[in-house]
Amino acid sequence: MNTPTSPAEPHGFASLALSPQTLANLTQLGYTQMTAIQAAALPPALLGKDLIAQAKTGSGKTAAFALALLANLNPRRFAIQAMVLCPTRELADQVTTEIRRLARAEENIKVVTLCGGVALRGQIASLEHGAHIVVGTPGRIMDHLERENLDLSALNTLVLDEADRMLDMGFFDDIVKVARQCPSARQTLLFSATYPEGIAKLAQQFMKNPEQIVVQAQH
Ligand code: ADP
Ligand code: MG
Repeated sequence: MNTPTSPAEPHGFASLALSPQTLANLTQLGYTQMTAIQAAALPPALLGKDLIAQAKTGSGKTAAFALALLANLNPRRFAIQAMVLCPTRELADQVTTEIRRLARAEENIKVVTLCGGVALRGQIASLEHGAHIVVGTPGRIMDHLERENLDLSALNTLVLDEADRMLDMGFFDDIVKVARQCPSARQTLLFSATYPEGIAKLAQQFMKNPEQIVVQAQH
């Protein structure tokens, strides 16, 4: 099932269907070549496919899903169009920072972080002001959904980041519940460093014919 992918040639971002502003911003950020996981995941992700992408820590997985969700996003539509589930608050903060860096050349794109350990009230106020992207932990996102603070009716991209760690932390049921509250006509991108058994089970629950990508550790 797994197709090892190890591109022999360096890949620039210019071959991708990204806006000129985004391409210029990537150059400014010093992102001159795609990493192996970006080169393997971005073309099918930009075609709208569901993905299960596996690559080690530090391989650039965040930009692989962030560029795909930003390409799906209409900045003029002030509604939650993408959601990223992360295992911890630290990782959610890192993902939020990276999405903001990658989105800074676009029109104002608002990202709200929803994690536990923070008062609900401030998060509710942020949601009431409106957001394009939500990044958070499954437990707190489920909490907001149960309280009907989160409208996911315009969502078109759901990302599970560090899915293996979320499973280790016992988030299987929350992830399934959150996914069931998303519109079924959406893209789901799952990223993980390893491939424990629970990932295939998650995929069976709510992914559509996912393409599986494995980038072996570089040496
Ligand atoms: P992972 O999620 O796979 O652990 P990250 O997305 O956190 O990896 O990326 C690791 C580091 O690599 C970050 O500092 C990020 O800014 C940088 N990075 C990602 N993609 C590129 C690229 N194409 N060119 C240069 N640096 C990159
Ligand atoms: Mg990561």
